[in-house]
Amino acid sequence: MTNSEFTKSASPASARQVEFILPPTEQHWVGDGFFVHTLMHPHPRLVERISPFLLLDYAPPRSFSPSRHRRGVGEHPHRGFETVTFAYAGEVEHRDSAGGGGKIESGDVQWMTAGSGLVHEEKFSRVFSEMGGEFEMVQLWVNLPKAKKMMAPRYQALQGGQFPKLKFGETATGRLIAGELTLDGQTHQGAAMTNSPMLVMDLRAEQDGIVEFPVSSTSNTLLLLRKGKLRIGEQEVPEKSLAVLSLKASQVRLELSGGSEILVLSGEPLGEPVFAHGPFVMNTREEIVQAIEDYQAGRMGHLDDKD
Ligand code: MN
Repeated sequence: MTNSEFTKSASPASARQVEFILPPTEQHWVGDGFFVHTLMHPHPRLVERISPFLLLDYAPPRSFSPSRHRRGVGEHPHRGFETVTFAYAGEVEHRDSAGGGGKIESGDVQWMTAGSGLVHEEKFSRVFSEMGGEFEMVQLWVNLPKAKKMMAPRYQALQGGQFPKLKFGETATGRLIAGELTLDGQTHQGAAMTNSPMLVMDLRAEQDGIVEFPVSSTSNTLLLLRKGKLRIGEQEVPEKSLAVLSLKASQVRLELSGGSEILVLSGEPLGEPVFAHGPFVMNTREEIVQAIEDYQAGRMGHLDDKD
């Protein structure tokens, strides 16, 4: 089948189209370890179309030379949402005031629920700092429903091997990180526990072709193109961009080429007010004021003094 035939095989009316593209911002440093493009953040005009997701920072592949200094971000607080870190290359070590922590390396995902609040640090592992090498990472912020914003903090260190492997014919393979997905009559369950319904998966093209999968018709569905090419209907998605798909249809149909690697995010919008201020994401201004007070009074805890 040639490319022109692909284009002519009209995508079914029931498939999601691209509604808009969120292009990468200029790269900026988060601490001294993460040189990221911010692809989305909880802007009032965007929140409804990305909920339950809030923010996505992408650190594309970059080579770091060996160093005794451990790069990263020092102690800082969070409350009211979850930070999800996807390691594609390199190693990151986390530790938090709720006792959570650990190392994630290539293929792993760390799903940290800040809930009622904690402080944490995010740094290159000691070994990766000393060895140097390629580093590629995504950090996603996932909102918590109002009823769960003050839940106890939770830490899920998910290793690459835990994710169910998916096959999309000969065209692509997938890793189901969170949520449920039925393909060819078989239902798969992702490894992460979530606090609202969502689907999170990595897709990797094994050859050029078309991949289709179902999503909930009421979900917000977003695709980050990390590598290669992606076409949806008539729209070419630029590399390192986030495509926000149209609503309603329950089928996603992607045309992959050139070794595409895509992070798929699909979730039910929470439909609750979002009041975001720096590292805190709550529902009202008063709750933000309370979060700042609690942090300043030390009620989100401290890290033990050690490095
Ligand atoms: Mn953080």
